[in-house]
Amino acid sequence: MSMRDRYARFASSRLGRGLVTLVGLPNPPKLRRYRPGDPVLPGPVLLGGAGRMVSPVTKLIESLGVEQCCLTPRTAGANPGSNAALVFDATSITDSTKLRALYDFFHPYAGTLRPSGRVVVLGTAPEHASDAREAAAQQALEGFVRSVGKELGAGITAHLIYVAPGAEDAIESTLRFLLSAKSAYVSGQVLRVGPAVISPPDDWETPLAGKVALVTGAAHGIGAGIAAVLARDGAHVVCLDLPASGDALDRVASPLSGTAFHLDLTTPEAPEQLAEHLQARHGAIDVVVHNAGASHNGTLAGMAPGEWDCVLDVNLCCQERINDALLGQGVIREGGRLIGIASISAIAGHWGQTNYATSKAGVVGLVRSMAPDLAARGVTINAVAPGFIETARLARMPILMRQVGRRLNSMSQAGQPVDVAEAVAFFASPASAGVTGNVLRVCGQSVFGA
Ligand code: NAD
Repeated sequence: MSMRDRYARFASSRLGRGLVTLVGLPNPPKLRRYRPGDPVLPGPVLLGGAGRMVSPVTKLIESLGVEQCCLTPRTAGANPGSNAALVFDATSITDSTKLRALYDFFHPYAGTLRPSGRVVVLGTAPEHASDAREAAAQQALEGFVRSVGKELGAGITAHLIYVAPGAEDAIESTLRFLLSAKSAYVSGQVLRVGPAVISPPDDWETPLAGKVALVTGAAHGIGAGIAAVLARDGAHVVCLDLPASGDALDRVASPLSGTAFHLDLTTPEAPEQLAEHLQARHGAIDVVVHNAGASHNGTLAGMAPGEWDCVLDVNLCCQERINDALLGQGVIREGGRLIGIASISAIAGHWGQTNYATSKAGVVGLVRSMAPDLAARGVTINAVAPGFIETARLARMPILMRQVGRRLNSMSQAGQPVDVAEAVAFFASPASAGVTGNVLRVCGQSVFGA
């Protein structure tokens, strides 16, 4: 029985009806998810605004072969369901009086978006603004997209891309990801793109062809989903998990023509063993996904020291030791991609998760602090912060907490492992060279946190 069916059954039960009415939860929309061969967009795009992004975005959208790429609102479809995306260049908004342009563009056309439609606003990061007025106006865009995402419903998402001056031609992978069905469960997010030399893939269906990717914690759940999507995108995937995961790891790796490597990442010799294994088999690798994770929930007052230590070690300290070993021994190729899996608990905090939220906020810190140094060798580092994702971990929760948790986001449903995996694949792409130091939440725009 699918999650939607289970929810429908729950919502129609006496307890469910009462709870849904009490909390005022809406019905979950069916999200458009990516299938290989799908076009980036299933319909017309309406472009608005004025600034340095109009020309590169027009060229890019035309190259996607969408039905219509229209710059003049008067000639655009005005009926409900006529547009697949609204894209607005806000880089010319240099003071708050010009923010009215957002209203003028989106007010008449917001209602024309199809279900699972897309809103993308392009701006200049406040830190790159030329004065305080411009910085304030550009910061204001965040509030706009985060609110639009919550308002439009029907699986429609809204995002802001801050494009650094000089990075105008580095946005293709970001725009493709946010416009496509690959970002089905991602909304209200802000991504920063910096200048970079981009070599677009020969085939956007297999951007990781010829690459080697390591996925830790790949035997189950989200890790297995990440391994599958990276393999779909052309990578050879080294799937790593605990020796105790046994055949489960082989069952993930074999159908993907990947390899399985059993290793407990917390042992002192693990970083060295991993570096040796990868060097012997592959010389060097291109992508590392630190997905292995542990949780021991409980209040701080009732938490045993081992429950604190274990969670911090698996979720954070291991990542640091492994990054140091692989980078120090040249096992990460130039142009490499490091991707951590954080959590919305890291951003919003969570009752009973002091250990877990500390470790995951540390992952965010790692990404932000390492990005500038790694940029010198063309390596990017980013994190994905999942919200409620349908995994065995979620299945272990008490039913009521699970049902409410699924619904406390703008999509009114939990995400799927594939949603996290698509975000990882976006960061892993060679075309994402300008994307570093970002933390992307995959949470259906959770009601918790920013
Ligand atoms: P999971 O428990 O199913 O998978 C984690 C994997 O890590 C397991 O296969 C486990 O064997 C492996 N692992 C643990 N310790 C290890 C070690 N010492 N060495 C090697 N492998 C080890 O969890 P999941 O729900 O699939 O979560 C995957 C990641 O996503 C975790 O980092 C988790 O914290 C994060 N996350 C999950 C959710 C969610 O809703 N499921 C939400 C936010 C973040």
